[in-house]
Amino acid sequence: MFRCQLCKTIVPAGTRTQKLTTKTRPKEYAARGTDPSERRGRRFSRGRPSKQKFDKGGTGFEIVQEISVCPSCAETENAKRAEEQKAALAAEALLLAENNAAVEQVAVPAVEEQVAE
Ligand SMILES: [Zn+2]
Repeated sequence: MFRCQLCKTIVPAGTRTQKLTTKTRPKEYAARGTDPSERRGRRFSRGRPSKQKFDKGGTGFEIVQEISVCPSCAETENAKRAEEQKAALAAEALLLAENNAAVEQVAVPAVEEQVAE
């Protein structure tokens, strides 16, 4: 039993909480493991060197804040987010198509000139 942090209602007992990410931030992970002194833990097990691998690092996102919500809130929120994502993708595709059209408009006269010669 818990209180949904979105609709503020108390859900019936036995209902599972769902976590909803509300805030993320970009994060850069530094590479590590190139220097042997950076490797922690047991280095040898039964005479064999450990299989700890070199971590090349990279970029990603880490969660800053998440809330516990009821299943119905999670469902509506996830649907909303999926739609937003779809809209963003569509907008991106449209932008890409416009750019391609612009490139084609530039390219087409050049081809016509070649044909005219
Ligand atoms: Zn709710």
